[in-house]
Amino acid sequence: MHNITLIPGDGIGKEVTSAACKVIEASGVSVNWDIQEAGASMIERHGTPLPPPVIQSIKKNRIALKGPITTPIGSGFSSVNVALRKAFDLYANVRPCRTLPGVSSRYEKIDLVIIRENIEDLYAGVEHMVGDDAAESIKIITRKGSERIVKFAFDYAVKESRSKVTVVHKANIMKYTDGLFLEVARNVAERYPSIQVEEMIVDAMCMKLVQVPERYDVLVMPNLYGDILSDLCAGLVGGLGVAPGANIGDEIAIFEPVHGSSPKNAGKNMANPTATILSGVLMLKHLGEIASALKIEKAVMNVLKKGRHLTYDLGGSATTDAFTDAIISELTELTSLS
Ligand code: NAD
Repeated sequence: MHNITLIPGDGIGKEVTSAACKVIEASGVSVNWDIQEAGASMIERHGTPLPPPVIQSIKKNRIALKGPITTPIGSGFSSVNVALRKAFDLYANVRPCRTLPGVSSRYEKIDLVIIRENIEDLYAGVEHMVGDDAAESIKIITRKGSERIVKFAFDYAVKESRSKVTVVHKANIMKYTDGLFLEVARNVAERYPSIQVEEMIVDAMCMKLVQVPERYDVLVMPNLYGDILSDLCAGLVGGLGVAPGANIGDEIAIFEPVHGSSPKNAGKNMANPTATILSGVLMLKHLGEIASALKIEKAVMNVLKKGRHLTYDLGGSATTDAFTDAIISELTELTSLS
């Protein structure tokens, strides 16, 4: 039995996490979900969008599945998502992105993974007004932060039998911050002679990703570039509805889709739960539940390939529930065959 903190989030979060939980349970994994609410609705009761019970639950269970949480734009409370990553030092954001069967895209054979530094950079939250007419945000890049994320990326490449790591930066302009990231990356790369290394300036990287994404394998980069490029890459393989993610630290891991809370679609039973279900697959692999993870992955691929129960974003008209039920039927069939 696994004790897992479940943060449904808001917007479409409740629908997509509920789908993921049903699928995980149908795969045969036994889970005790510790459900914890976070976000704007908690402010009235607890005075904070990230109440202490959420933190305590994650500390205890060391693993969480999380739906998206809305962050007010321009003003209001700071991002709960960023706060969680900082609170548990979840320094590695892993965002795999690959061509999926039955999902229409202009590209074929994409199979890349973005490894985004998750704590530093312009997301460190050191931002203030300078008088009334200027604002300043400080970009923080440290040797320790760069070293551990680049090492994580190379270790990931070795573990997953991948052959190339592309280091993405803008060190031609930001000579100190991105310069430090690149210098550290070059040093770390020397310890991995079996992995091919490539350096790419972030703007050129964007162009290459829309021209020849199939050439890329593991990409490692500072926080902001990783945030932007992972949405770009999601767009290459069918959109945010199919892009999973993991936030990994040395002790604790939180799994969540790349997408946000999509408030306009909340409560309409139309969101695509694939990204959250595949985040659940990453979580099960992390927990060592490999057989169930692979079975869910296969069931999702079968439903996508058959194309009869696709959600609106993939060109279909199925509801979140109908898509989820189709995956559960596939799971049942796969279980009876094994
Ligand atoms: P979004 O990801 O919510 O939506 C972008 C577009 O993708 C929208 O058209 C949306 O409908 C579509 N989309 C997203 N997920 C989908 C799904 N599962 N199925 C089908 N279509 C889907 O991004 P946004 O509109 O920029 O952000 C909305 C809110 O989410 C903001 O408050 C933002 O701060 C927050 N956010 C949270 C997280 C997180 O919790 N980790 C991540 C990103 C954004």
